[in-house]
Amino acid sequence: MEITAAVAHKPNGEFTLETLNLDAPRASEVLVEIKSVGICHTDLATRDGSIPFPMPAVLGHEGAGVVLEVGEDVSKVAAGDKVTLTYNYCGQCRNCRKGDTAYCYQFLPQNCAGSRLDGTQQITASDGGPVGNRFFGQSSFASHALASELNVVKLADDAPLDLVGPLGCGVQTGAGAVINSMDADAGSTLLVVGGGSVGLSAVLGGVAQGCANIIVCEPHERRRALALQMGATHAIDPADGELGEQVKAINSEGAHYIFDTTAIPAVVESTFTALAPHGTLGLVGVPVDPTASVNVSLFGALVLGIKVLGIIEGDAAPDSFIPRMAELHAAGQFPFDKMITKFPFSKINEAIEAQHEGEVVKAVLVH
Ligand SMILES: [Zn+2]
Ligand SMILES: [Zn+2]
Repeated sequence: MEITAAVAHKPNGEFTLETLNLDAPRASEVLVEIKSVGICHTDLATRDGSIPFPMPAVLGHEGAGVVLEVGEDVSKVAAGDKVTLTYNYCGQCRNCRKGDTAYCYQFLPQNCAGSRLDGTQQITASDGGPVGNRFFGQSSFASHALASELNVVKLADDAPLDLVGPLGCGVQTGAGAVINSMDADAGSTLLVVGGGSVGLSAVLGGVAQGCANIIVCEPHERRRALALQMGATHAIDPADGELGEQVKAINSEGAHYIFDTTAIPAVVESTFTALAPHGTLGLVGVPVDPTASVNVSLFGALVLGIKVLGIIEGDAAPDSFIPRMAELHAAGQFPFDKMITKFPFSKINEAIEAQHEGEVVKAVLVH
């Protein structure tokens, strides 16, 4: 079938709206009419070459929509179901069998190969030429997408399809890091470094866990204000002093849990002074330089008994965690929509620019 998609051609280049061809669903695939799609940092990091992917490409990995057609082996969803799309995984490797699907041994080929694993294409150009596709098992910067049965998540019939796309990646990553990966305990102090969409989602996770202090460290004043609206108890400016001192002025023990979204080596190193004994540091950012590293004091790490966790997709089991977040949102307890600004799908370049400039925390493109 013919679809309309936003196509990335080169690093830092604009997306162009083009008519492309989408293959029919194979046995385990699901055809989804996309109603909205969030723009995630990973889309832009891929366009800009930090994550290898064949260009030109249809990116997009926070799609939400309605199932139009399913392959013959699909039983999880049926035509007419409201769904959100999430990352893809194999479902068969050791980690997938344990439920740790975010650490699928096949994560990169399942999400970033640019085609089906047998080499066939889900999307081709109108002249039959190649277009990188199946990004995160969806390539949802488009009017329609093919997902797999594994990475479609069924939602309630009244789910707001113009909002829920980011639950499939950015919100799941931040909230899941606090709820699943770090399992922050009630009454604890949580420090979130960086007040972008993933950091603010971690704030929502801290609220859900009952953290007593939820501190956001963020240089932009508007984002600090938004963090407080979303449930942070304190918002600090890194320019106001050394991080550990600022955090210990709020809780003398330091932060029991720290969640870094910046992936800036100097910032990550500065978090160690803010960490409480036996505290946990969660890392989620994609560094601009893939070879970046940080210095950790071996003696300090030993004496403090610190835990450092690399976190993918918030350790979420999407089929249960995404509906749980949607239910909390419907009950007024998970206001992730406060950080969302909607744009018409055709305004993708304006949306990226607004997100880049910091006017917008999380852009969602709506059809
Ligand atoms: Zn797997
Ligand atoms: Zn993402």
